[in-house]
Amino acid sequence: MRHTSQRGRHAVRGYWTDEWEKTEATLHKRDDTYYLHVAVKKDVAPSCDEESENGVVLGVDLNVDGYVAVTSTGAFLGNADHLNHRRNEYERRRGNLQQTGTRSAHLIIKGIGSRFARWSADSLHRVSKALVQEAVKNDCTAIAFENLKHIRDRISNASKFQQWAFRELQRHVEYKAEEYGIDVEDVAPAYTSQRCSHGECGFTHEDNRDGDEFECLKCGKELHSDYNAARNIGWRLVHHWLKSGAGRATSQLALKSGTLNANGRFRPTATALRG
Ligand SMILES: [Zn+2]
Repeated sequence: MRHTSQRGRHAVRGYWTDEWEKTEATLHKRDDTYYLHVAVKKDVAPSCDEESENGVVLGVDLNVDGYVAVTSTGAFLGNADHLNHRRNEYERRRGNLQQTGTRSAHLIIKGIGSRFARWSADSLHRVSKALVQEAVKNDCTAIAFENLKHIRDRISNASKFQQWAFRELQRHVEYKAEEYGIDVEDVAPAYTSQRCSHGECGFTHEDNRDGDEFECLKCGKELHSDYNAARNIGWRLVHHWLKSGAGRATSQLALKSGTLNANGRFRPTATALRG
């Protein structure tokens, strides 16, 4: 590590507002603790051999509406609206039946309850399977989710059912990923929905996002909001590895058509080269 003086960026709310690659030292704030990142660009110039030993991350964004899960590689999985709709239907029918209060109504409630439980578990199972397949297909060594506490904070009106669904999904992904030797890690991604994930931009502003649409006010890049967030979540794990150990200095984020290493160097996949 080469130490250089930090340039007093702590007043900047989003800590990724500056171009990361050219930065020699940045001061990051998280939970009232400051982290100084020093001269990363100089230290991690990878050789090809080293790269294969290091991590490739699949970032995943989870949602209560639209798609259940969106990956940094551009896979849009599951239908959260349909899941919510079926849940509401089930609760409405249960409510009506409870009002009748008869024994047969009680039995019907049990029947539709277990049917809904099977159906929702199966939906989450399919999404988690597809997520792990996406990681395998892209040679990922790790899958990054935002941690559940952060999801609860971000989506303050998430129902108990939706929170259960996120827990279940992550749990399914964990045991399926283990079969392939893929790690599952949580990150606490402040500003992942506001930060521009395009190349070296990293501009962070709440007005970058408008519903499903992300348009960077600085570089003009337009992306689906959830896809942008997924890239930032994955990027956060790559960044975390950089801070925590030199052995992971050449880790990469899996993107739609290649990988981006910690130097901001993009490497297209073989498919992308052919295509
Ligand atoms: Zn941008």
